[in-house]
Amino acid sequence: MVVAQGLGDGSYDMFLVIRLTEDSLNWEWKSTPRTVDQISEINMLTNIVGDYQLMDGRDKWRCTLSSDGAFHVDALRFKIDCWNIPLMETHLKWIHEIPLKVTCFIWRANLDRILTACALLKRGIQLDSPICTYCGTAEEDASHVLLRCPMAMQVWDWVFRWCDIPNVQFASVEELLKFSSQWGTCTKRRKSFVSICYGTAWLLWKAMCDWVFKKSRISPVKVADLVKSTVFLWIEYRREHCNFQWIDWYINPFLCL
Ligand SMILES: [Zn+2]
Repeated sequence: MVVAQGLGDGSYDMFLVIRLTEDSLNWEWKSTPRTVDQISEINMLTNIVGDYQLMDGRDKWRCTLSSDGAFHVDALRFKIDCWNIPLMETHLKWIHEIPLKVTCFIWRANLDRILTACALLKRGIQLDSPICTYCGTAEEDASHVLLRCPMAMQVWDWVFRWCDIPNVQFASVEELLKFSSQWGTCTKRRKSFVSICYGTAWLLWKAMCDWVFKKSRISPVKVADLVKSTVFLWIEYRREHCNFQWIDWYINPFLCL
């Protein structure tokens, strides 16, 4: 098998026999597995190749999906169709007054697909550490950045007090989506509340990006103020027959109906 990259001497050809020792895999690639997932995957790979007996001859690729050993897209398509992947139930709301880019961001955050330190490490991008650089207390994944980071928790506490709703601790983005999509009995108020929740997560993400890329540390109160003004503008310009007054909204968003 000829594999690109890796001998460190400028050569890009490597034979499997060089890396496959008697009972293990000789790992000498550019980067070393760091995260729990990567270490687990390399252990799994080592177990798989541990008992493999190499034969004489050149290494070669063989696709097991087709009888002739060559890769065909239709064979892969057939395999995917056979998996019958179940659709994931989600409580995400697509509301007109929330900008599409924000709802798309929330959708990706719910799938843990936003570019946090943990997500970048999973994609093989080398970082010094997966720990959140804002607080230094936990790994930086989507739920930490948007919900569990002490800074995020202060913002959520402030937003819930503004809404006059008892504060709720969310462990995951899905919990936030579920809570907001089922909150209250009035449809209009619920729509405003969903907008506020998505707006809060969006502005927290922007604040974290400012910290990571510009080393600009914005206070939780400032983020909370931005939530007030940003979501007010979304609703004022996008909701039909909207007669929201800024002064009412500023005191409590549900004074506006
Ligand atoms: Zn943090």
